[in-house]
Amino acid sequence: MSTTRRVFLRSACLSAAALMPLAGTARSLARPRVSTGARAGRTYFDWQRIAEDVHAVADLSTGGNVLVLKQSSGALVIDSKFAHLGSALVQDAQKLAGPVRLLINTHHHGDHTGGNVAFSPETRIMAHTKAEPRIKAQHGKYLNQLRTGVSRMDEGDEAHNTAKNAAQGLLTEIDELAAARWAPTELMKGSQQTIQFDSVQLELTHVGQGHTDNDVFIKLAELNVIHTGDLLFHGLHPFFDPAGGYSALGWIKSVQAIIEASDDKTVIVPGHGKITDKSALIAQKNYLQGLVNAVREGIASGQSEDELATQTWDFMQGLGFEQIRERAIRAVYTELSKRR
Ligand SMILES: [Zn+2]
Repeated sequence: MSTTRRVFLRSACLSAAALMPLAGTARSLARPRVSTGARAGRTYFDWQRIAEDVHAVADLSTGGNVLVLKQSSGALVIDSKFAHLGSALVQDAQKLAGPVRLLINTHHHGDHTGGNVAFSPETRIMAHTKAEPRIKAQHGKYLNQLRTGVSRMDEGDEAHNTAKNAAQGLLTEIDELAAARWAPTELMKGSQQTIQFDSVQLELTHVGQGHTDNDVFIKLAELNVIHTGDLLFHGLHPFFDPAGGYSALGWIKSVQAIIEASDDKTVIVPGHGKITDKSALIAQKNYLQGLVNAVREGIASGQSEDELATQTWDFMQGLGFEQIRERAIRAVYTELSKRR
């Protein structure tokens, strides 16, 4: 890879949001899939029912995967995609589960928090305490998502037209949209917290540095569903963000904690990729451990970062997001070199 290309990737991939155009899905980003089946036209996104009272949207073209839980007092939403898609999420959640009472962000990346603006100020927004300054610092990025994203939103049926109109409304007041509109109103401190949400106990866990320094995974205890955030890239190379406080070694510990919180029937909502089960967590752990081992051995045998970055190993076979494979190797090289 040329230096120019590398510089481009480093500057372009400051968040997982940048994965979308890099994955060659810019066109699909502009044209979110229309709902299929009995709900065709009723919602903006293509939702799957994954458990009693739980729906999720899991596609690669519209940002991080989102979960909606329906309870008698209203809806819980986990993650909020890009800024221009927040209005569509609020609208869909309302249709699936009623007024949104609580939004939880799994981490600060802009494809998981951009939509916060459409939920605030009415909805409580929760994130890990380390996510707060990072979310506020992304203000310019969120405004840019709105400026560039709204015109690309699909229209046609009522759900799409209404969502796009709402997003256009946000665009007209863009000069008044302060960073506080994206900021969490409640912070998770420490490593564990439980929230009783009507009949469902939400178990929030933050292990430490992993994909970022503020990852939280959330288990819906009675329903045996876990949203992993970006601690799990299912069927994809994992995204490393040098500015986000990652640690491959810490990421392994985080994935292990999710494995321990799961059983063979747990429904796993990854940050990116299809809805899955515990086996995908084991594959993610094997990838990360395999990469750490391979890079550690390469360093010990005197291989340079550039030499290692060209390599591929069995645990990498058949995964999507090939364009970030090299990035993952370089990130682990940087981490392990510092620790020597
Ligand atoms: Zn992320």
